[in-house]
Amino acid sequence: MPGAALQLRDLVFRYPGERFALRVARLDVRGGEHLAITGPSGCGKTTLLRLAGGILVPECGLVQSGETLLSALPDAARRAFRLRHIGLVFQTFELVPYLDARDNILLPYRVSRELPLTAEVRTRAESLAEQAGITHLLERSPGEISQGERQRIALCRALVTQPSLILADEPTGSLDPLNQQRAVALLHDQARQAGAALIMVTHEPSLLSGFDRHLSLPELQAS
Ligand code: ADP
Ligand code: MG
Repeated sequence: MPGAALQLRDLVFRYPGERFALRVARLDVRGGEHLAITGPSGCGKTTLLRLAGGILVPECGLVQSGETLLSALPDAARRAFRLRHIGLVFQTFELVPYLDARDNILLPYRVSRELPLTAEVRTRAESLAEQAGITHLLERSPGEISQGERQRIALCRALVTQPSLILADEPTGSLDPLNQQRAVALLHDQARQAGAALIMVTHEPSLLSGFDRHLSLPELQAS
């Protein structure tokens, strides 16, 4: 599948000294595809996203994004690829407490010398914040805003680099139903506008209808 947003082949991953093992024989995600992943707590959903994003590397098997064999890259090159091409929304948002919302959205440009912080990038960050309804919060720090607002900052940060692959780990876990729907709509809209593939882990059955495909991780591991 040339140019696929993500391909996993014969993947095996274990945390050192732990009994848990993640095994995925095959997973292909097309460019622009929106895939939901479900499964019980502890089955390995977060681990799978961390492997897909090149934060972790497998013991065996391949992780490929586009033409890049992520699992074969040295640490620095994998990190550089992730910053440029992959947008991550973490389960706990991972905002930096001493930076305001604007600088949290612009974080990829502050931590990477290869991503120049241009006027165009600043305009894009502001436009994302406007679509997420958080323009009025850009000068506030994460400690001064609600969970739902923090989460929207995390979404904007994942989108600001115009990634070709967006990985979102239960991004709506701590939100009320209305804010869940809003956050997922923002992810779908932004991913479609950018032509990016979206892989989202969720426990919420009402959110599955917006996805092209739904996979249960235990079923994927058994196949
Ligand atoms: P899920 O996201 O589906 O709840 P995880 O991928 O977080 O599952 O975890 C899968 C398994 O790996 C669990 O048994 C968990 O305890 C273990 N695990 C997760 N992170 C670590 C880690 N950093 N070190 C050791 N074990 C871990
Ligand atoms: Mg998890």
